[in-house]
Amino acid sequence: MHDLIIRGGYIVNGTGEKGFIGDIAVDGDKISRIDFMIHEKGLKEIDATGKVVVPGFIDPHVHEEWVCMVDGTYELFLRQGVTTVVNGNCGHSIVPGPVDNVIEYYYGNGLMSQKQREKYKKIFPNWDDYAGYKKAVEEKGININFVTLLGHGTIRWSVMGGAFDRPPTPEEAEKIESIIRHNMKQGAWGISFGLDYVPSRYADMEELVDVAYIIQEYDGVAAAHLRHSIGIKEATEEFIEVGRRSGVKIQVSHLKATCPEAFEAVFNAAGEGMRILADTIPRSTGHCTSKARLIQFIMAVSDELFAEGTEGVKKALNTKEGREIIKKDAYIFAGDKSDKYVILSQDPHLEGRSVKDIAEERGIDADECMLDLIADDNDYVFWLGGPSRADFPDSGHADSIVANPYVCVGTDEIMGDVEDPYDWYELQRRGGFPIFMQMYLSKGIPVEEIVRRNTSMVARHFGIANRGELKNGYYADISVIDIEKYRFPSPKEIDYKKPLTMAEGVDTVIVNGKIAIENGQLKSPYSGRVLNRDIK
Ligand SMILES: [Zn+2]
Repeated sequence: MHDLIIRGGYIVNGTGEKGFIGDIAVDGDKISRIDFMIHEKGLKEIDATGKVVVPGFIDPHVHEEWVCMVDGTYELFLRQGVTTVVNGNCGHSIVPGPVDNVIEYYYGNGLMSQKQREKYKKIFPNWDDYAGYKKAVEEKGININFVTLLGHGTIRWSVMGGAFDRPPTPEEAEKIESIIRHNMKQGAWGISFGLDYVPSRYADMEELVDVAYIIQEYDGVAAAHLRHSIGIKEATEEFIEVGRRSGVKIQVSHLKATCPEAFEAVFNAAGEGMRILADTIPRSTGHCTSKARLIQFIMAVSDELFAEGTEGVKKALNTKEGREIIKKDAYIFAGDKSDKYVILSQDPHLEGRSVKDIAEERGIDADECMLDLIADDNDYVFWLGGPSRADFPDSGHADSIVANPYVCVGTDEIMGDVEDPYDWYELQRRGGFPIFMQMYLSKGIPVEEIVRRNTSMVARHFGIANRGELKNGYYADISVIDIEKYRFPSPKEIDYKKPLTMAEGVDTVIVNGKIAIENGQLKSPYSGRVLNRDIK
């Protein structure tokens, strides 16, 4: 008798090998047998006839590190068949503690609203380092596994006492190094850089290589949100150079499919023998944001207004000079406002219309109209960017990217406020895996290869032991997917007023041997783990 048997599915084991129809037995948290037919019975049996059975997908690029302190369900990942995510990307870090320090960093970088900041300071348990964080998360409970990177931005900012455009002093560099070593020794997986953001972007090649070299000693991964300002291809080459000089394994984060040459550079670096992968967001549209969050965002990008806080922004909205400052710094004010929409409003007359359209009706300048809407007393949800983005063309990925065996999905799903989903959301990222699957199937890539790129390839690169494959003795992280139904609504079909829209087509998900989704029903066993890098 086995604990669990998944019967009759098309088993795609994650290595890229051709699949076959068969049964999988699970005992405890491990896979105990895979065969064409298992004659013993299971305490629980799942019929997977007509479905594809895969190792749970691994998402190497998300920002979901502390949402679990409020809600550890992670349903939107389970609904895509994802069982492990890599957190701590783009330079943002859960260390160094105390937790208030981490909260201040996330707030100051616009990743947490004022409302969240106040609440979280009260309800988050304290942690000072990776081990403390792991304990806090595991006590809270999660439905998926976490791999966690340290973030260069937060660590540099904490040690230097702010975001300074200068190299760290030798004392500061030593402090940064000791924080990195302390947390790597506890099981952290590597480090992320956010080279568009302060303060990571102030790091030059030498500083990046110095940090990457420390990570290399632990055989960790260095990931980077690239320095896009120098050009995507150039930025990719810069980071490859960091990998080349330090010898560290590198992960190029959310690489933009509008630059196939950058993917070529990754391919060539791998050909040189470098250990390198690139993840990409399969599809994205504009971001939806509440007025309160937008005001906070305006504050965060403005040199003049940052120090004065959101009240300063509100004051500035009411004067001519103040409005000039806002327009100068906040790049959302670029363009004619035909791609800025009001999605939700107390005034239904404005809903679903562009700011350009509203400005024409009011007979005023479009910039002034946008500022009027932010300044008035109504609440809105804005949609910044609209349904079509030039950097995510409808045609999908170029053939050379599709053929590139070092490319995987990274949804870049960013924590919103789970208690107020209208505060901030971007819908298409919630469907990154089915979008990638359907796009790559339609371009002729076999399901076995698509699964390999999003399971064993990522597990081997990060060094996630005994996961990413369906294999005897491996952890039972398994997804049963109805490929025909596995999809996410396109930007044209989707209802933008529904921030909680999720992928369809995933029948059953098992995490560490426990059923998290059964026949489409969420079960929430909280069997996910905060994984430790193998410490040798
Ligand atoms: Zn990023």
